[in-house]
Amino acid sequence: MNVPLLDLKAQYAGIKAEIEPVLREVVESQYFILGPKVQECEKAIAAYCSCARAVGVTSGTDALLVSLMAEGIGPGDEVITTPYTFFATAGSIARTGARPVFVDIDPATYNIDPARIEAKITAKTRAIMPVHLYGQMADMDPIMEMANRRGLVVIEDAAQAIGSEYKGRRAGSIGHYGCFSFFPSKNLGCFGDGGIVTTNDAARADKLAILRAHGSKPKYYHKIIGGNFRLDALQAAVVLVKLRHLDAWTLGRQANAKRYDKLFAAAGLTDKVALPRVVANRHIFNQYVLRVPRRDELQNFLKDKGIGTEVYYPVPMHLQECFAYLGHKKGDFPESEKAALETVALPVYPELADAQAAYVVDSIKEFLSA
Ligand SMILES: *Cc1c(COP(=O)(O)O)cnc(C)c1O
Repeated sequence: MNVPLLDLKAQYAGIKAEIEPVLREVVESQYFILGPKVQECEKAIAAYCSCARAVGVTSGTDALLVSLMAEGIGPGDEVITTPYTFFATAGSIARTGARPVFVDIDPATYNIDPARIEAKITAKTRAIMPVHLYGQMADMDPIMEMANRRGLVVIEDAAQAIGSEYKGRRAGSIGHYGCFSFFPSKNLGCFGDGGIVTTNDAARADKLAILRAHGSKPKYYHKIIGGNFRLDALQAAVVLVKLRHLDAWTLGRQANAKRYDKLFAAAGLTDKVALPRVVANRHIFNQYVLRVPRRDELQNFLKDKGIGTEVYYPVPMHLQECFAYLGHKKGDFPESEKAALETVALPVYPELADAQAAYVVDSIKEFLSA
């Protein structure tokens, strides 16, 4: 049996008939950059995320970068974030010239541990960038309380968390900015790179829109320096079609996660592997991540059985070569380092069949009983 980590061809087969006419419509219009499709997409995503505004950009990475730029964050500033994330989070902070300041994770959720943040706030701290890893939101109440008390901006890295909720509130609607990615492997992916920033603040949304077009307003007059961060109409059209299916896909992912939980329990494996802990009230399972013994061996074993897995992420940010200048060493963020050694993501995409899930769990059982 073959079980890929993600099966985008299966997803496309289900929406091909809806996608093709809208792509043709954009091609016929020859309106490719920003324009009506992008505006429609921004309205739809803002509504989906319970936000007043959304600004379409070139990627999730650029969503983070342009949010930092909108706050004027740069050299001399510090931004607090998690070391256990995709590179773009810390990378975008460093690209502004600001210093990424890491705070270790809560080992249960893999998200930044709010209890450890306050000790890292200095006179230079400008922002906190929590990441909603794997599709579950970070513990936002204490983060917002701290940020409001200390006058800090909160930029949610919600690239893996569209539609995720914390105490009934959507990802991207709690902080000052919500940064989303339409990279194909995200829960709402387009046909290339794309992203969007959500905000409830009209002034911030207006500034983001100016920054994504080289800081020009009116055209050819630049009061600020921006970049080319414009979302294109083909990607916006794909997002609009897929958005209609997103809640059904999320239900599929959640059902697959529950099914795995039950299969692992039935196989008597819950003392050997740590299942994902659902704490926030709407986990959208961009990834279903286990903690396992002998992780690398297990991953190879599953690969030989035709099962795709992935390690998100093998090297925490504080141990990346490019961040050596920050002066960190092994042991600085033990929970992140432990998670990087012990976790593995299983296939959880909506189209995953019963037999495939059973095969994955049987194979893990076989490995662990050897
Ligand atoms: C995917 C991702 C990003 C970057 O998004 P791109 O669209 O690939 O640039 C940023 N942060 C996290 C946590 C991600 O998973």
